[in-house]
Amino acid sequence: MTAAPSPDQTGGRPGAALTAADLTSGRPIVFRNATVLTMDDAHHVLHGADVLVTGDRITAVGSGLQVPDGTAEIDATGGIVMPGMIDTHRHMWQTAMRGYGADWTLTQYFVWNYLQWGKSFRPQDIYAGDLLSAIEAIDAGVTTSVDWSHNLQTVDHAEAAADALQEVPGRFVLAYGNIQAAPWEWSATPEFRDFVSRRFSGGNDMLGFQMAFDVPPASPDFPEKAAFEVARDLGVPVTTHAGVWKVTTDDGIRLMHEHGFMTPSTIYVHAASLSPDSYHRIAATGGHASLSTESEQSAGQGYPPTWQLREHSIPVSLSMDTSVWWSGDLFSAMRSTLGADRSREHLEAHARQETITHHHLRAEQVVDWATRGGSKALGLDSVTGSLEPGKKADVVLLKNDASPVMFPVLNPYGHVAFQAQRGDVHTVVVNGRVVKHEGRLLGDQLGRAREAVARTVEYLQGRLGDEAWVAGMHPEIPETKVLDNPYTYTTWDAGSAQWKGGAAPDQSS
Ligand SMILES: [Zn+2]
Repeated sequence: MTAAPSPDQTGGRPGAALTAADLTSGRPIVFRNATVLTMDDAHHVLHGADVLVTGDRITAVGSGLQVPDGTAEIDATGGIVMPGMIDTHRHMWQTAMRGYGADWTLTQYFVWNYLQWGKSFRPQDIYAGDLLSAIEAIDAGVTTSVDWSHNLQTVDHAEAAADALQEVPGRFVLAYGNIQAAPWEWSATPEFRDFVSRRFSGGNDMLGFQMAFDVPPASPDFPEKAAFEVARDLGVPVTTHAGVWKVTTDDGIRLMHEHGFMTPSTIYVHAASLSPDSYHRIAATGGHASLSTESEQSAGQGYPPTWQLREHSIPVSLSMDTSVWWSGDLFSAMRSTLGADRSREHLEAHARQETITHHHLRAEQVVDWATRGGSKALGLDSVTGSLEPGKKADVVLLKNDASPVMFPVLNPYGHVAFQAQRGDVHTVVVNGRVVKHEGRLLGDQLGRAREAVARTVEYLQGRLGDEAWVAGMHPEIPETKVLDNPYTYTTWDAGSAQWKGGAAPDQSS
């Protein structure tokens, strides 16, 4: 049995608003009359089109779809339906410290987390940060997130992270790491192996697994080799911060390459501050970059390397890195990535007295990076990343009738990249399940996250003490030398309507 589309049909009760029960009962769902960014290989954009979700999959995309009786209809008129976005690198545990490091550089981040206070995080603190970050992700239409979880000091910490990710109805990848120990140490323990085999069965595309560690240039005998061998043995990808100014360099890339550990599943986070030789090695081995433009612009890993990645034909995905500084939504990532690429192009051209007349990087490209780029990087391209029949249903509707920003929609890619915001995320479907509708999250997890994070903040504040807590948030500001201004040696005399007080300084000396 099928039913033709009708504008007022809402799950068999014409004219009635959909209730949470309508959306969570397992009935098919259809988005009606949207601008649909399929993000398929040809980047088809459909107007006035529908997307049908049956069970956990997308079953049809097109205009005037016939749908099964009892299908819940979501009126997407005026909105944009796109694939759920994918973040390939986020330190979700740090969301418990949201915004604390807004004025940090990478140096201050390292001192605070690696040397001073990172060790203070207990399993429940990892849980709290992960839970909030996971909820934040799905609220922003980020349906798949890699939790770059590099403070798993014990397996109990790791259990806490996995628990949080499994409690939130998003798609996640736990990237296991531990900055408090060497990767060849933590990855060699039986507890680690046991954790992986207990919690990560093959074939679960809702919770994947990676190993997360870096290769600093400290030791030419490449002790990280043992950790790479564990990853190879387990058949799991490695994600690594690569090309971070004076932290991870070309040496790490060369060692990985010479030992045969650069593979198509390897993700190179930032991938800035590298030589052409390193980019060639990444490209030749099929690896993917995870670009965190807001992070690179502000923390100092190196200039967001979009032009290098373009010239070396390295596939790109996007990420937000950490909410200790930045937001956790990929609208910001798309916007800042376009801005960084274009501003560099203009700046360098102006230095040559030239004018850029055509941009290399387009809005369409960053929308692709925020969706397909992520699914390809994570080996999930047969599962998610585009709106095509047969794929799992990770679907986002951008629509906000109360917003002056959501019309007119003339250039849908440009609208997603430069106009839309988190508040315009109307409906989110993950794996066929509606998790947000009419701008509101379904379920009651936010309250639990709020309580868990409050306990963590109270505990950490107590550990640090008031002085260190405030000092950590407010790094010293370098002195700014204000330049002499040759136009300020006279003052305006209103009575005589003239400049008075002596001649302007001699400019010839
Ligand atoms: Zn990072």
